[in-house]
Amino acid sequence: MSAPYRAFNFSPGPAALPVEVLEEVRRDLVDYQGRGLSVMEMNHRSPEFEAIADAAERDFRQIANVPDDFATLFVAGGATLQFSMIPMNLTRPGDSVDFVVTGTWSKKALREAKRVVGVRQCACRNDSGPLPASDSWSLDPNAQYVHLVSNETIDGVQFKTLPALERPLVVDMSSDILSRAIDWQRMGVVFASAQKNIGPAGLTLVVVRRDLLDRARLNIPSVLEFAALDQRASMVNTPPSFSWYLAGLVFRWVEREGGVDEMERRSRRKAQKLYRYLDESNFYAARVVHDRSIMNIPFDVGDGSLDELFLRQANEAGLLSLRGHRSVGGMRASLYNAVPESAVDALVEYMAQFESEHA
Ligand SMILES: *Cc1c(COP(=O)(O)O)cnc(C)c1O
Repeated sequence: MSAPYRAFNFSPGPAALPVEVLEEVRRDLVDYQGRGLSVMEMNHRSPEFEAIADAAERDFRQIANVPDDFATLFVAGGATLQFSMIPMNLTRPGDSVDFVVTGTWSKKALREAKRVVGVRQCACRNDSGPLPASDSWSLDPNAQYVHLVSNETIDGVQFKTLPALERPLVVDMSSDILSRAIDWQRMGVVFASAQKNIGPAGLTLVVVRRDLLDRARLNIPSVLEFAALDQRASMVNTPPSFSWYLAGLVFRWVEREGGVDEMERRSRRKAQKLYRYLDESNFYAARVVHDRSIMNIPFDVGDGSLDELFLRQANEAGLLSLRGHRSVGGMRASLYNAVPESAVDALVEYMAQFESEHA
């Protein structure tokens, strides 16, 4: 059988998946390992699915180096639900939390948390400036936690290191989990929706330090309670079982490919290649100067008047989803783990061709 056609997919999310994983899914889709049914059709409490779920959790904990004093939860609702679920679980009425505001996703998280708890903005990134250095944050000693976004998917900025604070850090790693090592000693909660570096949409990974599991408010719905999810192995109700299975295949793929360190090396190489090209060009320009993300790279094409043509011809050349977020315009190339280096080569080649024809 000839290899299937695969476009170069720069989508910000749902995003590219490893073709090897998709082939595994296809192989097992109709008849999972001789059992005569698909994983989609399996009861989530069957021994077959339990084995799939346990293996996925074990493999995630292994590749992400999660210590024993953290619980791993597989939940629905996206990272956005965590913006409310985390304050519901980690604060009581009257408490307050600190937010480091660096872009769109930290702003959204702050707005949602405000519906649940008192919120302070302890640091802020000015337009196109560097990320605020942690020694300049005005932290509230009574805050229950400090929320930050390790990689701002829309703005294209990324913290290279995260500080060790008195308070637990709550870190939204939706767009850079599994592309960098995590220093768990600094973490209270790490969460990530799956559809960028983990798997299909519908699943969110939440890793919670165990001593934070008993802080929930009374009267929150049991499906939203970390402690209940932990006690019942994330199966308070039917979990997004197919996404969970597929995430498990991605974890094994990461492991086979050399683990998170190798993902980080590849990500740096891919991002450097594109930034170098953008920086040397007189026609294209990277939007971000300081604290550049190695996952999401926003850039401009000339004065913007050729954007639609650039996107249309890119599409025709098999380079998909380069349109920047609607709130900021321009272009954005998302270079998640499953985007091969050959995709960056193809993009740079297309950009050079486009410039020579239209600039
Ligand atoms: C994509 C994204 C989200 C939102 O994820 P949903 O699953 O759509 O709720 C939140 N935070 C960051 C950093 C993201 O990249």
